[in-house]
Amino acid sequence: MVYAVAATVLGYALVPVLRGPLLQLLCLVPLYAMLNLHPRQSAWMGGWMVALLLLMLAVMTALGRPDFVPRAEALRIALAGFVIGALTLNAMHFGRVRLQLKAQRAELTEAVGRVQDLVIHDPLTGLLNRQRMQALLQEEATRQDRSGQPLTVALIDLDFFKRINDTQGHAAGDAVLCGFADLARARLRETDAVARWGGEEFLVLLRETDIQAPALTALDRLREQLRERALVPGAPQWRLDFSAGVAARRPGESLSALLERADRALYAAKAAGRGCTVFSGSGADEPPVRSCAR
Ligand code: GH3
Ligand code: MG
Ligand code: MG
Repeated sequence: MVYAVAATVLGYALVPVLRGPLLQLLCLVPLYAMLNLHPRQSAWMGGWMVALLLLMLAVMTALGRPDFVPRAEALRIALAGFVIGALTLNAMHFGRVRLQLKAQRAELTEAVGRVQDLVIHDPLTGLLNRQRMQALLQEEATRQDRSGQPLTVALIDLDFFKRINDTQGHAAGDAVLCGFADLARARLRETDAVARWGGEEFLVLLRETDIQAPALTALDRLREQLRERALVPGAPQWRLDFSAGVAARRPGESLSALLERADRALYAAKAAGRGCTVFSGSGADEPPVRSCAR
């Protein structure tokens, strides 16, 4: 635009016959500025146009060429300056509107991201929520049906959690839930997904394993870490534990049947004295296996 203005003003000075059309052409520049430039750039562009026209007027008047009548040219340039000024103000206004729209679009994108985040995460722990986990399980089950890759779920329930609420307060209970969530997120494999299933229950999706050893090892590791932590605010000596029911999906098994098996295994782990994991394998006749790492 800078060069276009300079060339047009030069053409105005040198080619008398084109002066009328060239002034009109010059007025097109702020229209392009309207679409492309920052408001400040548009202001500079308007200033540049008026300054070049005035400079050209002064130089041509000083040269005293017969085809340049200073009074008539001054009048023309004043009118053109008026139009350029008005268009420049418009270009600045549109530039500001464009900036506002851009900022609003960025805000909207961020807000949509935040809403999507809220929709799939539990607000207290930041883990996936139950709805998202159910959708994930459905996807994984479809994948398992297609590819035969194993799928195992572990339902974890913190032991005697109510005592924390009762003796240390609800806020301490909340802090424990967050502490456990952080630990589970950090300790389970990248491929595993953890969700807050409800109150003090968590569901872990263990991908790519349907055999007892790796599933139990993953949970035993988590249990060991949990036992080493002081997660209860105001009671550093308090050690937490959990019971877990693990179920490996059988071919064609519905999700509700799989979850029910995990729930029954969890119940068996509680009945066995807590601090235990009970594994229900993918073989129909496999008896549940109990692992109590005490
Ligand atoms: P068990 O070993 O049999 O699982 O005993 P428990 O005390 O862990 O289980 P119970 O079902 O008796 O109590 C669960 C408690 O979890 C009761 C409820 O108030 C508490 N709870 C559920 N959601 C939250 C929460 O978001 N924050 C807090 N602080 N407590 C919660
Ligand atoms: Mg419970
Ligand atoms: Mg519990």
